Amino acid sequence: MGYLRIKCYYCGGTWEVYHRDLHNRYKKARECPHCFQKIDEQTWEKQIFPAYNALDDANRELFKDHLGHHVPLFEVSYESNTIFKNAKNWPSYSDDDDSSDIE
Ligand SMILES: [Zn+2]
Repeated sequence: MGYLRIKCYYCGGTWEVYHRDLHNRYKKARECPHCFQKIDEQTWEKQIFPAYNALDDANRELFKDHLGHHVPLFEVSYESNTIFKNAKNWPSYSDDDDSSDIE
């Protein structure tokens, strides 16, 4: 259904993590495919994976409501707003795509 998009501020690359990747290639999924930096394993397991599942479940539920109760269909996704953008030591490499690339 949905996927996670992860932005790596080390190299400026992004990658997508699909549900099947979380199961089949679990270790690779948290690794940047461009520069091979890894997201901390504990952060991945305790924060990112549950957040993904929660939104995935939410969308499944919205879809069920739509089918079962004929209510309008809604879909929720999350786009990071780069919380630390204004921090003093924010890296200078580009982050020009944070506003308008919704698929
Ligand atoms: Zn990277």
